[in-house]
Amino acid sequence: MRRPVIAGNWKLFKSSVEARELVGSLLPLVNRTDTVDVVVAPVFTVLATVRDLVQGTNIRLAAQDCFWEEEGAFTGEVSPKMLVDAGCSHVIIGHSERRQYFGDTDDTVNKKLKAALAADLIPLFCVGETLEEREADKTFEVIGRQLKKGLAGIHDDLVSRIVIAYEPVWAIGTGKTASNQQAQEVHAFIRSVLCETRSRTIAESTRILYGGSVKPENIRGLMSQTDIDGALVGGASLKAESFASIVNYGG
Ligand code: PEP
Repeated sequence: MRRPVIAGNWKLFKSSVEARELVGSLLPLVNRTDTVDVVVAPVFTVLATVRDLVQGTNIRLAAQDCFWEEEGAFTGEVSPKMLVDAGCSHVIIGHSERRQYFGDTDDTVNKKLKAALAADLIPLFCVGETLEEREADKTFEVIGRQLKKGLAGIHDDLVSRIVIAYEPVWAIGTGKTASNQQAQEVHAFIRSVLCETRSRTIAESTRILYGGSVKPENIRGLMSQTDIDGALVGGASLKAESFASIVNYGG
């Protein structure tokens, strides 16, 4: 049985005052949820603030990215070890916005995944095709490549700790959600790649989240699909009520 994960990616939003307000409103709405892993990913500068608020609760803390070196002359970067120090248990890696605007490649994503795992963080490893790639019938080719290169050289024992997020780029922040069938088809494909390249046990135990305009209105349909184990939520995680109703999709 795969335990669902609902993670909120706050992107470049929320000052410390706003983060306090959001977590303050969210906690009473989700504190009785014990069947889902609830994760929030604020900007680096408010991680410690949010850590203090969620300590001892069922909300886990994620960063939105990390560097692969532990320390050194790398101005502007943050290492996995520093994220653990700031209270993180999870980290988003390979988000399409990092790939699109900040030069992340399959190779750097692979280095980040290895470094995050070495620091005992749980990576939320994002893969997804652009609209152009989907229209050119390249979805499976792109996702297959991102998965194989991203996971290259990572031992099976560590792969099983990774949470994969399928995020079609054309659905992120656009209001356009993949249909339940479109998402399920790619999730099943991801599981088949894990089965071929790793093992059936890893394929069946790995949690695969869907991301791309998830809202309270579409979460149930998505979660009813066999291979969808949760959601990575952007816009709808910025309001306590909408994020809480996604977390509490089960009723
Ligand atoms: C995301 O940021 O990962 C995301 C899926 O955003 P949105 O839910 O706003 O599409």
